[in-house]
Amino acid sequence: LSIKEHRICVCVRKRPLNRKELSLKDLDVITIPSKDVVMVHEPKQKVDLTRYLENQTFRFDYAFDDSTTNEMVYRFTARPLVETIFERGMATCFAYGQTGSGKTHTMGGDFSGKNQDCSKGIYALAARDVFLMLKKPTYKKLDLQVYATFFEIYSGKVLDLLNRKAKLRVLEDGKQQVQVVGLQEHEVRSTEDVLRLIKVGNGYRMSGQTSANAHSSRSHAVFQVILRRKGNLYGKFSLVDLAGNERGADTVSSNRQTRLEGAEINKSLLALKECIRALGRNKPHTPFRASKLTQVLRDSFIGENSRTCMIATISPGMASCDNTLNTLRYANRAREK
Ligand code: ADP
Ligand code: MG
Repeated sequence: LSIKEHRICVCVRKRPLNRKELSLKDLDVITIPSKDVVMVHEPKQKVDLTRYLENQTFRFDYAFDDSTTNEMVYRFTARPLVETIFERGMATCFAYGQTGSGKTHTMGGDFSGKNQDCSKGIYALAARDVFLMLKKPTYKKLDLQVYATFFEIYSGKVLDLLNRKAKLRVLEDGKQQVQVVGLQEHEVRSTEDVLRLIKVGNGYRMSGQTSANAHSSRSHAVFQVILRRKGNLYGKFSLVDLAGNERGADTVSSNRQTRLEGAEINKSLLALKECIRALGRNKPHTPFRASKLTQVLRDSFIGENSRTCMIATISPGMASCDNTLNTLRYANRAREK
C-alpha cells in the first residue's frame, strides 16, 4: 500500500521502554511481528488465578518498531506528502497518542534534554525536502515562495506560536473558506530559517509549564509549510502534534477548567477521526465544524488532492496498555471506510 494510491495512510510507532519504565520493571507488551502488524500481549488472570496473555492483533499501513529512526518513519509517512503540495495539493500529517508516547519526539524532534535538537523531527525533515524539491528544474521555474506558520489550539483557542501566543480568531466566510485572522506567515528560504522558527514556536509552547498535566500535552500544535505562487495559495502541508489522547481523570476531575479542556480534546479528536474517514470515503460532507481543530484544517479535508497521514505513537509498557489499546482502536477506525 502506498500513500500515492490512497488518500490516507495510518501507521503506528512504538517507542522503546524509557528509563522510568525500566526502573519500575514495567514489561514490554508490544511486538511488531511484521512491517504492518502490531500485537498487544496483555497479561490477564483467570478466576482461578492462572495467568495468561491476551493477544490482540492490529494491522496498519506501516508498523514501526522501537529501533526505527525518525528519518525512516518520515520516509514512509510525511515524505510522500511533500510531493502532494508540489502538485497543488493539501497535506496533513498527525501524531496521535497518549502523553509520553513520542508525538513531539516524532514531529518536533528532541526537546527533552539540554541540547534541544529539532533538526531530526518531521517538521524539519519535511522542510528540508521542500527546499530540495524547489531546486528541481520543474519546480524552480514555477517561482514558488515558502512560508511557515506555527500555532496551537488550546481549549478551543487558537494561539500564534510565532507571535508571542497572540490569540487569533477563526472566521468562516460565505464561501465556507476558513481563515485564521492575523496568523503570521513567515517567509522561509532555507531549512535553517525553518529550524529557527520551530525553536521560537516551541519556546512559546513550553513556556510556563509546570506539571505532568502540562499545557503542551493538552494542546494541539500545528506547524504549516505553505507554498505560494504570485501570492496565491499553491499547496499546504499541516503537521500536527496532537494533544494527548488520555482523558480518564479529566472527565471526573473536580476542577471545572480541567473537565472542560478534557471534553474539548475528546471532541476534537473524535471530529478529526470523522473528517479523516470522510476523506477516505471521498464523502462530500466533511463534519469539520465539530471542533476548532478540524475547522482550521478544513481546506485539508476537502478537495481533489487532499491527503493525510496519521502516526499513532504508543508506549510499550504494560502500565500503558489501556491507553495503547485505545490509540490502536482509534487509528484503526480512522482508516476504516
Ligand atoms: P509526547 O509528545 O507524546 O508526550 P514525547 O515525544 O515528549 O511524548 O516523548 C516522551 C519521552 O520519550 C521523551 O523524553 C522522548 O525523547 C522519548 N521518546 C519518545 N519517542 C522515542 C523514540 N522513538 N526513541 C527514543 N526516545 C523516545
Ligand atoms: Mg508532546
